[in-house]
Amino acid sequence: MSKRDYYEVLGVGREGSTEDIKKAYRKLAFKYHPDKNPGKEKEAEEKFKEVSEAYEVLSDQQKRPTYDRYGHEGMQGAFKSGGFSWSDFSHFDDVRDIFEDLNLGDILGGLGGSIFGGSGSSRRRGGPGRGASLKYNLSIEFTEAAFGAEKTVSISRREACSTCKGSGAKPGSRKKTCSDCGGSGQVMMSNGFFSVSRTCGSCNGEGTLITSPCLKCGGEGRVEVSRKIKVKVPKGVSAGTRLRISGEGESATGGGMRGDLYVDIYVKPHDLFERHGDDILVNVPITFPQAVFGAEIDVPTLDGKVKMKVPAGTQSGKLFRLRGKGVPHLNLYGTGDEHVRVFVEIPQSLSHEQSNTLKEFAKAIGDESTPLRKSFLERLKKIMT
Ligand SMILES: [Zn+2]
Ligand SMILES: [Zn+2]
Repeated sequence: MSKRDYYEVLGVGREGSTEDIKKAYRKLAFKYHPDKNPGKEKEAEEKFKEVSEAYEVLSDQQKRPTYDRYGHEGMQGAFKSGGFSWSDFSHFDDVRDIFEDLNLGDILGGLGGSIFGGSGSSRRRGGPGRGASLKYNLSIEFTEAAFGAEKTVSISRREACSTCKGSGAKPGSRKKTCSDCGGSGQVMMSNGFFSVSRTCGSCNGEGTLITSPCLKCGGEGRVEVSRKIKVKVPKGVSAGTRLRISGEGESATGGGMRGDLYVDIYVKPHDLFERHGDDILVNVPITFPQAVFGAEIDVPTLDGKVKMKVPAGTQSGKLFRLRGKGVPHLNLYGTGDEHVRVFVEIPQSLSHEQSNTLKEFAKAIGDESTPLRKSFLERLKKIMT
């Protein structure tokens, strides 16, 4: 993807003054502040970063002329890590009041490391985190993948302790205010131009400390329990499909949202069918006389046996298609096809009588009944004289 021109990003002309650039940036920083874009934080954050990068360059008396002359090429050495990152942004003062309006703490603490290229944790300031998500490998039958299934899986996960209701404190005991953060759950750290608030490490952002821990969970507020979870496997899944079961992961400490349960699908092989996307393939042996005279043969499909006509003179390896007899498309209308490959089975052992009959046949058969072989031999003779 090519990088957008910085002037275009800010919507300012090339001859725009520093004041124009600042005005444009303030407007856009306000518009794309992640807190102003609920539900679209991620996109907003990207936009916000893009306009901040443009502003960082165009508001700088050294960087701007270089950019004007050489474009993005000229900016390669301008940022420490090769590309722009938040640690390169040195103009928070220019928009401090905007951030204060929207609560600077939130953008740094709320988006956690993510806006500063960190972990991407979604922990909100002072609020509880989200429980861990769990993964389960589920092995299902070939036909269950095709038609869907209801499965029950047993998982072990940490849930809020029932004795202390997740608080970790012995019922009836008191919690004391965390002295490191004074109960706010946040500690301020100064980072050059601005202060960053971080979750307090002593109390994990809770603001309080347990004086006498709950005996059942040892103060963690969570206990490990086994659960049986119903998993609805939709029709048309294939090996590698990942299902997400919302809210069936672990509980968070402090009563936050549950994580999710991810179920990875494994499909057992079938005795007869091979799967290719949503099409299936079955190999069906036929006898030499069936191939010669034609026959009606039994063919397995996912929903039972069907009769299929093999025309007279069918060659070994010929593919037939049974429309709509494959696997339903996942989350879409329609179904794949079944491909039937017939092959002529050569007898492995013959009785004396059968053998003699076949020898008679071999004598009697002329080249005219096998035109492919005839033309092959003719071409062979031409090349290999
Ligand atoms: Zn407990
Ligand atoms: Zn604390």
